[in-house]
Amino acid sequence: MIRDHLFNTEKIKYVKSRKTGSGCILCAIRDRDPDVKSLEVFRSGGLIVTLNLYPFNPGHLMIFPARHIDDISLLDKGEAAGLHELLVKALKILKEEFDASGFNVGYNLGENSGASIAHIHMQIVPRYPNELGFIDIISGSRVYVNDPAAVMDRLKKRFEEAEAEDVTTG
Ligand SMILES: [Zn+2]
Repeated sequence: MIRDHLFNTEKIKYVKSRKTGSGCILCAIRDRDPDVKSLEVFRSGGLIVTLNLYPFNPGHLMIFPARHIDDISLLDKGEAAGLHELLVKALKILKEEFDASGFNVGYNLGENSGASIAHIHMQIVPRYPNELGFIDIISGSRVYVNDPAAVMDRLKKRFEEAEAEDVTTG
């Protein structure tokens, strides 16, 4: 059972070092900083999709603009449209790949929101039957990771396939 395989409380240390120029983890991922373990699954059109560094659930993704902006009003129209397109793609992929039965999608904005990264990023948290309560999930008190590399490879492949389909079908 794929889901059972994914649920595991082992926490992986993702960030080996903090010596990134701006100190922004998302900019470091964008710049492919060798000191930061990247869980990137897709990038296109100034947007990047990664697995969350500290997932609340298996398949927890983030979509963020490549450029460092810390206010949602600064997203340009192309980025906003691209984000939505990637969101729709991600939901389909997570449903098919992980059998997710629901999603929480959104942004943490501003200092009292619980945001730990200033760089604007959309969170996509897949939900599963019989998982933890919502409070456990949003408070981030439990973190699930099994083999992020395997999850990353699966999602990478799916996003590439979806992109190829777009090209063929126009
Ligand atoms: Zn940044």
